[in-house]
Amino acid sequence: MTSISKAPPPYPKSHLLAASGIAALLSLALLVFPSREVEAKKTTLNLDLNASEQLESNPSEPQQPRLPGESNASPFAQIDAQNSNTPQAEKPAEKPAEGLAQLPPADPYTKLITVANGDTLSTVFQKAGLTPTHLHEALNSSDDAKRFGQLKVGQVLEVKLTQDGGLQHLQSKLSDLETITLAKTDKGFDFKRELTKPTVRTAYAHGVINSSLFLSAKRAGLSHNMTMDLANVFGYDIDFAQDIREGDEFEVIYEQKVVNDKQVGDGNILAARFVNRGKPFTAVRYTNKQGSTSYYTADGNSMRKAFIRTPVDFARISSRFSMGRFHPILNKIRAHKGVDYAAPRGTPIKAAGDGRVQLAGRRGGYGNTIIIQHNKTYTTLYGHMQGFAKGIKTGGMVKQGQVIGYIGTTGLSTGPHLHYEFQVNGVHVDPLSQKLAMADPISGPDKTRFMQMSKPLMAQMDQEKATMLALNKR
Ligand SMILES: [Zn+2]
Repeated sequence: MTSISKAPPPYPKSHLLAASGIAALLSLALLVFPSREVEAKKTTLNLDLNASEQLESNPSEPQQPRLPGESNASPFAQIDAQNSNTPQAEKPAEKPAEGLAQLPPADPYTKLITVANGDTLSTVFQKAGLTPTHLHEALNSSDDAKRFGQLKVGQVLEVKLTQDGGLQHLQSKLSDLETITLAKTDKGFDFKRELTKPTVRTAYAHGVINSSLFLSAKRAGLSHNMTMDLANVFGYDIDFAQDIREGDEFEVIYEQKVVNDKQVGDGNILAARFVNRGKPFTAVRYTNKQGSTSYYTADGNSMRKAFIRTPVDFARISSRFSMGRFHPILNKIRAHKGVDYAAPRGTPIKAAGDGRVQLAGRRGGYGNTIIIQHNKTYTTLYGHMQGFAKGIKTGGMVKQGQVIGYIGTTGLSTGPHLHYEFQVNGVHVDPLSQKLAMADPISGPDKTRFMQMSKPLMAQMDQEKATMLALNKR
């Protein structure tokens, strides 16, 4: 598989479970029972919180989670297709571009050209009265200048001519956030790139699940990425593949990125609540004084666990832990001291927790095997692998969620699957039944600071929900 040579992806901590979230969402999206009315609503509100400050201090945060194994992405196509018409928040017309197009500037040397179907930069230059030589000079003035060749239908280019009919200035708005310009100088052309910084506003969304989290979230106005983030935030506590029930409920306060009143993207989830089978869960995003960001429960306990729930995404449990079962190859009753996850060959396998690689090599019937020592107490084992991820070797360190290898069928195995074992103090236990170890709660001065943030967010959700329910009753 192509992904084998890939290095482990840089994996933002808060997004460790993105992939399993997606796997869960996928199965949920496919499991759709006939739809009744969904109570879902979204409003935009202005929260006066330190949260925006926090965002400013964190501008280079990685964008939305991306999967380690985008190569086995055929399921995504379905999700993306379904999601392509996700309702966005209030979306006013694109004022700047249209305004420009409708009101040509008085300057006779400036032309605004709207890119039509089939246009290339060459035809645009032609329309502006410029020659192929002008085009050649402009495009070859620098590597950056070649970006002017990226045209989208409907996009408006501003072309300013010199008095003798040459190119003085060329401007192209590549997106709501990026504009590039080329300006004539004595020596040739000067390329400039301008980035518009979006403003951030907060929004509230609420939904009750009647078929899948994915569909309800979509109805509530949440984007695909935002829904994945939501599943991700609660991923240590809720198994989105198996635990979701009709009537489950979610609320989110999240950031929207806005340019000229138009939503151009999502920011972070600031706070969320999820009621799963009657049990409430809360989450608040918090960046501590050392600058590390994580989600905590509303009262400050960590949501991150020492182990992730499942080391493979897009997998189905093909065999559970048991003290005695019929072994298809050995042809006799034998204990199965692990869990089998069936998935296509090449599917990435992730380290369940941080630790040291005790073994990355062949081990008898396990075939290609990795054993990770997490601390004195816990060990995990991954068997039948097709191969190991780049850089994984005996004695090395791994991070939770890091791809360590790929699904295969080496050793005593009937088909591609991962055999996963979990040991506590040298004793095999059922990983599916383990209460996952908790990370440390917030303490000391951070606790006070956290509560000052958490309380208003929870109150805000209470208020939003009450308002919404009252409106629905009328
Ligand atoms: Zn097994």
